[in-house]
Amino acid sequence: MERRVIETRFTAEDARTENSLRPRRLTEYIGQERIRENLLISIAAAKQRGEPLDHILFYGPPGLGKTTLAGIIANEMGVNLRVTSGPAIEKPGEMAAVLNGLGEGDILFVDEIHRLNKQVEEVLYPAMEDYAIDILVGKGADARSIRLNLPRFTLIGATTRAGLLSAPLRDRFGEIHRLEFYTPEELRMIIENSAKKLDVAIASEGALELARRSRGTPRLANRILKRVRDFAQVRYDGVITEAVANTALDLMEVDKMGLDRSDRRFLLTLMETFGGGPAGLDTLAASIGEDAGTIEDLIEPYLLQNGFINRTPRGRMATARAYAHMGLDVPAGIV
Ligand code: ADP
Repeated sequence: MERRVIETRFTAEDARTENSLRPRRLTEYIGQERIRENLLISIAAAKQRGEPLDHILFYGPPGLGKTTLAGIIANEMGVNLRVTSGPAIEKPGEMAAVLNGLGEGDILFVDEIHRLNKQVEEVLYPAMEDYAIDILVGKGADARSIRLNLPRFTLIGATTRAGLLSAPLRDRFGEIHRLEFYTPEELRMIIENSAKKLDVAIASEGALELARRSRGTPRLANRILKRVRDFAQVRYDGVITEAVANTALDLMEVDKMGLDRSDRRFLLTLMETFGGGPAGLDTLAASIGEDAGTIEDLIEPYLLQNGFINRTPRGRMATARAYAHMGLDVPAGIV
């Protein structure tokens, strides 16, 4: 897959600054109002009772702030955070060891939790429900299971698609929150805060222009800010004005709506090869040489959210809005 400026997954480019740009307290966390309100209450209640928080699942596209929220919750609760991910834990024994290493009240963050294998996932059931793990000792007819108690911990899971989680695992979360794309105004605030931390001069209109083209995603907003900062420094006097923002983003081939070449190729294929659809995901994926999962996780959510495509039982369909955005005539029958 070609490397995208608007890649919303974590990349090496983010590694240097992402941690320093992460808000540490709930009051610094911008957007996701409903989630914030809920967390404020659960955190206050858990603290009052002197109990750990209930297990929490966050789901939504990459780069919207799931990991950031886990860090904030640990900070607000004043407990340790242990971070791992679904693909990193391959054996039940590894999961048991991670759980056993937690302290009372600690938070275990499991990113990409839908990628845990079944045996590992099964270790989590009693751990989440009863703060215990069952270990099999002995062999053959002598084998028996003994129960080990664990400290009372909180599991925070993150996934791009809640639909991929098994029902028994999903049911064991006390709170399930869906993260939404951010509004341009929220992203503008995030960009202005990051600019301050990075010591970059940016005009308010410049920040808003970057915000509009960041696909509703803070990770992208921060990355675009850093790219445009370089551009402003080399070609201009270092200040990111609206004009500088526009020129830089045009150069990166990120359009006014934040769509890049991959998005546009997806839309054009749907319109030109498939007459606007309906076209099945796998067929579309094959024609543009992308993996179906990548399309579902990284391309479609933003296009759906902005009304460029519809998902129907017979496949994906381009909307009149998509034709207009791509500068094409809207065919009869397309709405
Ligand atoms: P996810 O885990 O959903 O992929 P992250 O939590 O890693 O996303 O967020 C990516 C980056 O975006 C973070 O480093 C942080 O700088 C920024 N970010 C995310 N959400 C917010 C927010 N609400 N306010 C400010 N910055 C945010």
